[in-house]
Amino acid sequence: MTPTKRGIVLGALLAIGGVALTVAALQQPLAGQEAPRVVEAEQLKDNLFLLTGGGGNSSAFVTEGGVVVVDTKNPGWGQPLLDAIGSVTDKPVTMIINTHTHGDHVSGNVEFAENIEIVAHENTRTNMQEMRPNSSAAPSTTPPLNIFRDNGGRGMPTQTFTDRMTIGSGRDQIDLHYFGRSHTNGDAMVVFPAHRVMHIADAFPAMDMPIMDANNGGTGVGYADTLEKASAFVDGNIDTLISGHSATTTTPADLKRFIQFVRGYVSDAQAAKRDGKTVDAFADAWMPPAGFTARQARVRSNARLIFDETR
Ligand SMILES: [Zn+2]
Repeated sequence: MTPTKRGIVLGALLAIGGVALTVAALQQPLAGQEAPRVVEAEQLKDNLFLLTGGGGNSSAFVTEGGVVVVDTKNPGWGQPLLDAIGSVTDKPVTMIINTHTHGDHVSGNVEFAENIEIVAHENTRTNMQEMRPNSSAAPSTTPPLNIFRDNGGRGMPTQTFTDRMTIGSGRDQIDLHYFGRSHTNGDAMVVFPAHRVMHIADAFPAMDMPIMDANNGGTGVGYADTLEKASAFVDGNIDTLISGHSATTTTPADLKRFIQFVRGYVSDAQAAKRDGKTVDAFADAWMPPAGFTARQARVRSNARLIFDETR
């Protein structure tokens, strides 16, 4: 090898080394970041999709005039949700329906086009002006994120309802129902009558202890009664329920079992109060029945509310 050639080879090796260093430097911050944000789309009916990941479940209903999206996930998950919808239809999103105020269901609103309709219960609109953390959230020293205030009011509901609202007609009809306070004081239950499907969201978190969110108007002692009203409607009208976080759909029979679970828990908490027990003593000892799960923080924060509501 002549000295000249060796020089070129060395130079090339240094160049490759330089590229390798650059790649390593680029990968360094990437390694500390969270995984790519991917929303999965599952086709439930020909024009109805369940979209999971990134917070609460969303659904997308593809109507003649455009796509109606129920709930929009955590901050930063609006665009991945739009990408997932774009993978199943070419139609634009024309409407968002928010089931309730929690940040894992509404925050993506700010990433949608500014001219679309956003529909929610009137109490949810009021709650979204404040965006208080739910009563089961861990205490925090930082002020809660108010994504709508931070975005100059973008993403706030443009239409509200109180008890019932019908959108569209025929195959495209959507009915919004409010049966009373449960998870919050503004839980919209979204019905697609043509498919006999209800997006019931966090009011029925499948077989898990619900959050009875005192900070956003939720109730413990009234929870089961409200769901009893929903269940009376579900009987004969609905075959499939979309819960707020479960990756699989549930049935009207599951809803009935859930209501009995909530009733049992609430009456256990009320009995503990009447027996002079503390909230903590009750929450430490209480165990969910077989087939149900219950996070300790929820058992405790819900019990605090039930004790307060029980005279
Ligand atoms: Zn919620």
